[in-house]
Amino acid sequence: MKNRPFILVPGPSALYFTVEDHLKEALALQVPSISHRSEFYTEIHRETVSNIRKLLNIPSDFHVFFTGSATEVWERIAQNLIIAKSGHVVNGAFSKKNFEAAKAMGVDAHKIEAVEGDLPNVTAESFPKDIEVLNFTHNETSTGVMTPMDNIREARNLYPDAIISLDVVSSAPYVDIDFEAVDTAYFSVQKCFGLPAGLGVWIVNDRCVQKAKEKSQAGHSLGSYHSIPSLLKMAVKDQTPETPNVLGVYLLGKVAGDMLNKGLDVLRRETIYKSTVLYETLKKHPSLSPLAEKEELQSKTVVVAKCEGGSERFLKALAEKGLQPGSGYGGAKNTQIRIANFPTHSKELIEMLSDELMKID
Ligand SMILES: *Cc1c(COP(=O)(O)O)cnc(C)c1O
Repeated sequence: MKNRPFILVPGPSALYFTVEDHLKEALALQVPSISHRSEFYTEIHRETVSNIRKLLNIPSDFHVFFTGSATEVWERIAQNLIIAKSGHVVNGAFSKKNFEAAKAMGVDAHKIEAVEGDLPNVTAESFPKDIEVLNFTHNETSTGVMTPMDNIREARNLYPDAIISLDVVSSAPYVDIDFEAVDTAYFSVQKCFGLPAGLGVWIVNDRCVQKAKEKSQAGHSLGSYHSIPSLLKMAVKDQTPETPNVLGVYLLGKVAGDMLNKGLDVLRRETIYKSTVLYETLKKHPSLSPLAEKEELQSKTVVVAKCEGGSERFLKALAEKGLQPGSGYGGAKNTQIRIANFPTHSKELIEMLSDELMKID
């Protein structure tokens, strides 16, 4: 077998370095075969939720639910929290997909859009006053733009009646979510957490629970098994409405525990150090430059570079060294590269990648 490459694609990405051991232990404990109504499952569920709460510093009036993916949450938000209108801050492919999902669900969805690599400015005129949910993508994985938390606080003041929704798929747990300014947040586990795909985490506060109740009382459907009332009814019993991804829930709890033991401050410092190494490399390099030109918008967890003369020679040369970053997203496939800077990517690996990038001109 060929040597396995270091995967630096921004999702799915390399597994967190402790996953292999946790997986072995899970098999020894027969985790994939246990009943989701057993005492063992509720222990796993409780531990995972507790670790996620600690890691993301989630206040007690927020609830934590498990879904199949972040994509599912887009649909659930439309189904549970919006009767008529939503607002979307669009600055790349994922925020755009969220907007499209709302439209497909019959929502009167409004968007403001930025040029690639930038963020649109949210003003009092950006959206109708009566939008029910305002959607932000904290870290746009397609462009490497990270939204400053101040922008979200300002939007909260401009649209006080709207539920603020935050996609933290490719930034949690690095992101320090201001739960005063955010009512619901969600992520999938195959990005920063370095876990196998197939599990989403949806965090909602009581304002969301209330809104779902109002929508239901007004005679609208909230969907079935993954409606907020159905999820909440089971979550208080440390269970889920359906048979969940038990192995995924188990592994997430273990990895979140490992990250807690390491310390979130250490994890954040390392992330910043490694991203600085990467952006310094882009600055020095004759034919690479960050897609996000404004420093305050440059993502710490997904670094996207424009490649003069195309991305292919970079991807090829790096592959020979066993390094596999992502290509550009969608239409930018051949002109950009995307580098995941997740907790499992070591300082040594990022320094090696930077050295190898400098050898390509
Ligand atoms: C990957 C990604 C998603 C979608 O995640 P799925 O697990 O495929 O549902 C949504 N938002 C962002 C920002 C992402 O990077």
